Amino acid sequence: MKRIGIIGGGASGLLAAIAAAEQGQSVTILERNDRLGRKIPATGNGRCNLSNRTLGKKPVTDEAYHGSAKTLFLPVFQQFDLDRTLDFFQSIGIPVRSEGDRLYPYNLQAASVIDALRYRVEHDSWIEICLQQQVLKLSFEKGKWQVRMKDMKRTFDAVILTAGGKAAPQLGTDGVGPALASALGLRVTSLSPALVKLKLDSPYNKRLSGLRMDACVRIGVKGNWLRSYMDEIIFTDDGISGSAVFQVSQAATTLLQKKKQPVIELDLYPELEAEALFSMIRQILDRVAEKPLEEGLNGILHKKLIPVLLKETGIGKDRTSSSLKDREIRAMVQFLKNWTLPITGHGGFQNAQVTSGGIHGSEIGTDLQSKRFPGLYAAGEVIDIDGDCGGFNLQWAFSSGYVAGTHAAQEKG
Ligand SMILES: Cc1cc2nc3c(=O)[nH]c(=O)nc-3n(C[C@H](O)[C@H](O)[C@H](O)COP(=O)(O)OP(=O)(O)OC[C@H]3O[C@@H](n4cnc5c(N)ncnc54)[C@H](O)[C@@H]3O)c2cc1C
Repeated sequence: MKRIGIIGGGASGLLAAIAAAEQGQSVTILERNDRLGRKIPATGNGRCNLSNRTLGKKPVTDEAYHGSAKTLFLPVFQQFDLDRTLDFFQSIGIPVRSEGDRLYPYNLQAASVIDALRYRVEHDSWIEICLQQQVLKLSFEKGKWQVRMKDMKRTFDAVILTAGGKAAPQLGTDGVGPALASALGLRVTSLSPALVKLKLDSPYNKRLSGLRMDACVRIGVKGNWLRSYMDEIIFTDDGISGSAVFQVSQAATTLLQKKKQPVIELDLYPELEAEALFSMIRQILDRVAEKPLEEGLNGILHKKLIPVLLKETGIGKDRTSSSLKDREIRAMVQFLKNWTLPITGHGGFQNAQVTSGGIHGSEIGTDLQSKRFPGLYAAGEVIDIDGDCGGFNLQWAFSSGYVAGTHAAQEKG
């Protein structure tokens, strides 16, 4: 029987443990926290968006993942795809429902997902669980893997590094996973927060704080646009958040890290072409001709945005609705569809959902084994692959965990 050590008992580590134990191998999970899977209850705003129905459809999948290891996604996913994932969750008592393309546990409770996973591993006689054991060092000596913790040393035939990245350090992931890989000599790309709110240089931050709307956002530098996405935005005290912002945030954090000066462009009316928006404003203002402009715009724009629009276009709020010239309405349209603001920072790892960066894709094969260190496997966020918002990161953690666990168990030691 092989002895397999799993470093980190989060989403990928738990699936790796289950897969290796299913092959009849002896598995030990080493987890630094006092509980397994502490991150999972926080996912999906407490609802756990565990996967996405579009996965496996090639263009969608290619676009949804980023990083030097993104090409690993499909070959790994094909070994533990959506059907197998859903079947696995059914088998531990978690039926799944969809909201649009996003998949959630049927009762919309993330806590149930981790409860069921914990129950599954705690009642598996092949799995030993060691809590409050922070792995400090990994080394390969005399054909075995030595794993050192503060007061304990363990020896394994194979180890699976599932210690996550650097996002949400308050939940146990402070970059130790990539650091352990780097200390072994593996190539690790630099880490930056992804799926994170952005800080903006805007005089309107406080005034707009709390405003939610759908918009199309673009990130770029000097007119060179890198990423765009349409979904919800939320103005905050110091900038902007929401799922559209999360999706493009990785481009912004990378530019900031390179000391470039990225900007965000907001199209607050993505559903309307500029000409259609112009016609709508013109028609409405003509119908309410005698109303002061602030009142006239009331049904077209959110109340908080009206003073911002008037200030930015230099149009006095006391003008009557019908007094507006076509060129002034065109200036409004230009602002509403191309509001550009400098990005000055981001919410940091503390507020990020995932890490961009990690073990370089060239270091590992589609069995998730290190190409240079036989018997060393990796899965989940410790690898340089990050997905969009929408269940893509947990699916990667589940698929890669299961695949790494299976191969680690089957490979001849
Ligand atoms: C607030 C929030 C919401 C999110 N929502 C979603 C969502 O709805 N859908 C989605 O797809 N993704 C979501 N994500 C991302 C997703 O949770 C992660 O990508 C996923 O959990 C990564 O799995 P992992 O196993 O690689 O790492 P983790 O789940 O982070 O697990 C790593 C584990 O390793 C342990 N560990 C770390 N270092 C050591 C060490 N040295 N020794 C021992 N143990 C160690 C940690 O304590 C942790 O338990 C969210 C993330 C956050 C923070």
